[in-house]
Amino acid sequence: MAILLATDLDTVPGVEILRDEPMSKHTSFGIGGPADILALPHSPQALQELLRVCHAHGIRPIIIGNGTNVLVRDGGIRGVVIKLAENLSEIRRCGLNIEAQSGASLARLCVMAADWGLAGLGFAAGIPGSVGGAVWMNAGAWNQDIGSLVRQVEAFDLEGQPVVLDHGALKFSYRYSSLQDSDLVIVAVTFSLQEGNPRRLHAELCETIEKRCWKQPVAQASAGCIFKRPPCDFAGRLVEIVGGKGMRVGGAMISEKHANFIISDGTATARDVLELLEQVRTRVHEQEGIWLDPEVRVLGED
Ligand SMILES: Cc1cc2nc3c(=O)[nH]c(=O)nc-3n(C[C@H](O)[C@H](O)[C@H](O)COP(=O)(O)OP(=O)(O)OC[C@H]3O[C@@H](n4cnc5c(N)ncnc54)[C@H](O)[C@@H]3O)c2cc1C
Repeated sequence: MAILLATDLDTVPGVEILRDEPMSKHTSFGIGGPADILALPHSPQALQELLRVCHAHGIRPIIIGNGTNVLVRDGGIRGVVIKLAENLSEIRRCGLNIEAQSGASLARLCVMAADWGLAGLGFAAGIPGSVGGAVWMNAGAWNQDIGSLVRQVEAFDLEGQPVVLDHGALKFSYRYSSLQDSDLVIVAVTFSLQEGNPRRLHAELCETIEKRCWKQPVAQASAGCIFKRPPCDFAGRLVEIVGGKGMRVGGAMISEKHANFIISDGTATARDVLELLEQVRTRVHEQEGIWLDPEVRVLGED
């Protein structure tokens, strides 16, 4: 079955297939064992055909965008991973709307919106994911999130059938969209923005990025905030008051700069990160009575 699948995938036009591909090369953590097959579709049509072939073989692929909110375990991923970042990266303007393919970088979207004098995305500067990953996660910062700007999502189901969802159907809330309870693969997103001044919008992007560099360990390997914000509090504050800053397991450490970041010194394994995450969660629970909920998505096997 696996050999048949790999042979069939090789024949899908517009799809690059990598075998035994280390996922550490495709995650911002720089951690993760090999995926049996990593597929890189170069167009929506190629993605659709790829999904059909996987479905015909009874394979449920794992989707990633830019791998900036995932931790892949050390044993890697059996089966097929489809990576959308860098490919499927078209961005175009339609009046006050922008339509972006799901693999487009969120950073590039922010810059293009500012160039076009379209306001609303200033808060998202410096979030290193893809458009698809950002919408799936309802990424946000400084009390704003991307979901509020989404007008429509175009997706495929696992059989490659097109599905269109409007804002209401996506049920956005803090780091949640209804896509998380579906098998849909986001292909493109339409954002509704307002008119703005390009010079001021670019200045806003620079300020946001500066603020991030000042507050977060952006130069070190991580997956961003490791825990979601608990009701009426901040995960970073809780980790800090229980003395979490600087805690270490192997090559993984709680950042001294921002206590809600686990960073890797380049040698951390997924096992180190997960062990550290559990130690911190337990400490916060014992001392503050709150179980923190991880924001990072854990994929693959030990
Ligand atoms: C330094 C740093 C700073 C960060 N700052 C922030 C921040 O301020 N706010 C914030 O919210 N996040 C932040 N993050 C986390 C991360 O960048 C965001 O969650 C981002 O939106 C994830 O996008 P991605 O493309 O990397 O998704 P991935 O990590 O690749 O995937 C995340 C999830 O989305 C799913 N997914 C991705 N693309 C698709 C698709 N096209 N269709 C269906 N499912 C899909 C995946 O299956 C996975 O479950 C930060 C990360 C880092 C490393």
